[in-house]
Amino acid sequence: MKKAIVIGSGFGGLAIACRLRAMQYDVKVLEKQPNLGGRARTLNHNGFEYDAGPTVITAPYLINELFSLHEEDSRDYFNLLKVEPFYRFLFNDGSYFDYGSSLKRMLTEMKTKYSKEDATGYLKLLKHSKRIFNTAYLKLSDYPFETLNSMLPYIPELMKIKFYKSVHSSVKSYLNNPHLIQAMSMHPLLVGGNPYTTTSIYLLIQYLEWKWGVYYAEGGTRSIINGFEKLFKKLNIEYETNCEVIGIENKNNKIHSVVTNNNVYETNLVVSNTDPSYFYPEILKIKPKKIFNKPAILKHSMGLFVLYFSTKKQYDDVKHHTIIFNKRHKELLEDIFDKKVFIDDPSLYLHRPAATDKKNIQNNSDSFYVLAPVANNESSIDWDIKGEEFSSHIIQILSEKILPNLKNEIINKFFITPNYFESDLNSFKGSGFGIQPIFRQSAYFRYSNKSKELNNLYFVGAGSHPGAGVPGVISSAKVTEKLILKYNG
Ligand SMILES: Cc1cc2nc3c(=O)[nH]c(=O)nc-3n(C[C@H](O)[C@H](O)[C@H](O)COP(=O)(O)OP(=O)(O)OC[C@H]3O[C@@H](n4cnc5c(N)ncnc54)[C@H](O)[C@@H]3O)c2cc1C
Repeated sequence: MKKAIVIGSGFGGLAIACRLRAMQYDVKVLEKQPNLGGRARTLNHNGFEYDAGPTVITAPYLINELFSLHEEDSRDYFNLLKVEPFYRFLFNDGSYFDYGSSLKRMLTEMKTKYSKEDATGYLKLLKHSKRIFNTAYLKLSDYPFETLNSMLPYIPELMKIKFYKSVHSSVKSYLNNPHLIQAMSMHPLLVGGNPYTTTSIYLLIQYLEWKWGVYYAEGGTRSIINGFEKLFKKLNIEYETNCEVIGIENKNNKIHSVVTNNNVYETNLVVSNTDPSYFYPEILKIKPKKIFNKPAILKHSMGLFVLYFSTKKQYDDVKHHTIIFNKRHKELLEDIFDKKVFIDDPSLYLHRPAATDKKNIQNNSDSFYVLAPVANNESSIDWDIKGEEFSSHIIQILSEKILPNLKNEIINKFFITPNYFESDLNSFKGSGFGIQPIFRQSAYFRYSNKSKELNNLYFVGAGSHPGAGVPGVISSAKVTEKLILKYNG
């Protein structure tokens, strides 16, 4: 049996491991961290469990496909619960708007709180989002762009959907109310982009959410990762944790061995699920052949500061996903993405899983995480010094806006900063999502799913096509599967 090694166990790595096994490879997954999942791993702290990252599960059929490839039903492994509303948006003046789950309810809320024109504008926006989805998602999300020419046939369609506009400017052409524009253009932030510079192709996420819904895994995203672990055991997919790849050995443009901190593994094929901006210089020790793929010239996504905490009190009226906008918007994003300076007025995403799933009441307390986009480590912020200050600041904002008396209710807390992403997950400059989703870093312009330097090396995950987010990285494994079948099948 031919051997394949997958480096990294993020959703992209888990997905390609399942696909390689279905192609009859003897698969081994090597993971640096003590548990599987990458950004979706579980963090344990003082007897509490927290999902480290993804909590919004969309396009669940993509996960199901990986189980049905092996004639298994994902529902025997984990259960998905509907999230209602998808998000609550909380604005600086204290007003809020609930997005998703029922279009009828949402349009009524729009008419009452904003205007009839905004409600009709939203329907037009959704129609536009569907048009983008039909092209960019249905046709291109699992299409292997091997050459620049492979993009050409799609240019007329991309022109029609106005890919050259940013998400923010597209949304603004349909809606009038500034709050609504802010809210309905936030989706790029979920995949590492600034709404003011991300290509409007990413408006497709909005239609995707309506089409298949927004879910949360009962027991946490960790129950999906545990489901994969169980599936791996059943399929004889081996995995090793606490196992960091430190190099590769190659001959005649082919990798024959992968070197880890404690072993050397022979292999016929390698798929890296790591950040390519780290993998090229640190592991391959070469520059990518594609000239526009040099880490130094690529734009990497923002960093993330995530505070995990549990409270004595159960905040029953707080929704599952709340996005709390601060006063500044465009300027705040410029400070984070372009100027890369320390901010003290973050916008926040608050995750309260118990709103959907009572299994997340742990030790009789409510558990949360709150995420703040911040500058990545291209900034000169010293998080060892600034971390505590920033954490107190966030607690103060939450106390004032949504979780009264939070400071006195907290019984457990800890945080991660861009340093965690850089040193623990090997993410270039601690970026939260890899390279940004701007047009000149999309499709063929992203890192290649098949290496142009070594014949049996492939990539999956946020750095490759189509990009970040759970549906994106699982789709990247579909692209990579097609290329493996073509070249190494
Ligand atoms: C806080 C947060 C919240 C998010 N929320 C959502 C959400 O709600 N919904 C959504 O769809 N997306 C969300 N995302 C984005 C999504 O989580 C990611 O885009 C996706 O999970 C990344 O998967 P990946 O396959 O690229 O691999 P990653 O998760 O990045 O995993 C890569 C793995 O490679 C390992 N590795 C690196 N170097 C080595 C080495 N040398 N040897 C061995 N192993 C190595 C790392 O330890 C890591 O486990 C969120 C991200 C974050 C950070």
